[in-house]
Amino acid sequence: MKSLYIHIPFCNRICTYCDFTKVLIKNQPVDEYIDALIMELESLEHKNFETIYVGGGTPTALSPKQLERLLSFIAERFTVSTEYTFEANPDEVTTEKLDLLKNYGVNRVSLGVQSFNDEILKVLNRSHNFDDIFKSINHLEKIGLTNYSMDLMYNLPGETMNDIETSLKYVEQLKPKHISWYSLIIEPHTVFYNQIKKGALKIADDNVEAEKYERVMEGLGELGYPQYEISNFATSEFESAHNKTYWLNEHYYGTGAGAHGYVGNQRYYNIKPVPHYIKSMNENNTVVKETISLTEVEQIEEEMFLGLRMTEGVLKERFKDRYGMSIDEYYKDELNYLKDKKWIRDDGINVSLTEGGRMVGNEVFMSFLKST
Ligand code: SF4
Repeated sequence: MKSLYIHIPFCNRICTYCDFTKVLIKNQPVDEYIDALIMELESLEHKNFETIYVGGGTPTALSPKQLERLLSFIAERFTVSTEYTFEANPDEVTTEKLDLLKNYGVNRVSLGVQSFNDEILKVLNRSHNFDDIFKSINHLEKIGLTNYSMDLMYNLPGETMNDIETSLKYVEQLKPKHISWYSLIIEPHTVFYNQIKKGALKIADDNVEAEKYERVMEGLGELGYPQYEISNFATSEFESAHNKTYWLNEHYYGTGAGAHGYVGNQRYYNIKPVPHYIKSMNENNTVVKETISLTEVEQIEEEMFLGLRMTEGVLKERFKDRYGMSIDEYYKDELNYLKDKKWIRDDGINVSLTEGGRMVGNEVFMSFLKST
């Protein structure tokens, strides 16, 4: 087992677009949650990982005492050889918290910047503002945690092409090691979703979104950030090793309320919300989870969806090693169709999306479905 994900489902504010498993931290049983989480972590068979990723929610919403408890447990119990990431919000990375992260071996931070426009940050209900972004990056650099990912979003309400240019300008100035730049997706059960339903909010159409995405790819390319996944950009030494576990369709543990994992041929989904998770651990000493066994056909489909997200695409040799057959035979008709459309590139070693294919990613992914 290469990777471990740990979920901290607490936030100091709830963002208007967010559909993750999270809850406002105020009055929550945070200490009991950490007890339960430690119990689940103790039950894992593996102790040595290449990557550990602590995400949320917002892990930096924990108090220094709570953070230290979690960090010291992780340090005593596990080893991590390559990449140990903590997600953080710019207004929450105090020197005290950063010292703790650094001292307990965290070597990468994923910083939720989202936008450099204060008006847009307000519409998103983010807890930070423009100044916080610079302060937090200053703190990170001072303490020597210079391997950070700047997490941005585009296609946000009220956003213009100028905002994209401004973000590119700050990327050039701040030089983060890694950039994730995701398009806003309107998910059910979010404030944005309800506002759109009531006609109180409008989102730009697909053409504008495509124009912004093209500018993001082009601008980051000009600044020396190769695109290694649909929404992720970095030189090869700073690509996210943890996230590549997902895209390479490899196994990982997911721990905490609502977290998911992939072990053997099973994907599992831990119980949520927080009180159910704590109860499950306290009463049964184990976490209640929904488990889905994947057939080989489904595993292959996932291999394609996930692998094609990466610029390098799906390695033919790896496909053959895993499934005992060649991708060219298994997907003969589909690959011919997609090559005719110029949505897929096949260099004999990898099968990957072309620029055009990236713009119609979902349509390409659907072509590989055989199980439905
Ligand atoms: S901080 Fe992150 S997890 Fe929390 S509400 Fe905002 S987007 Fe969701």
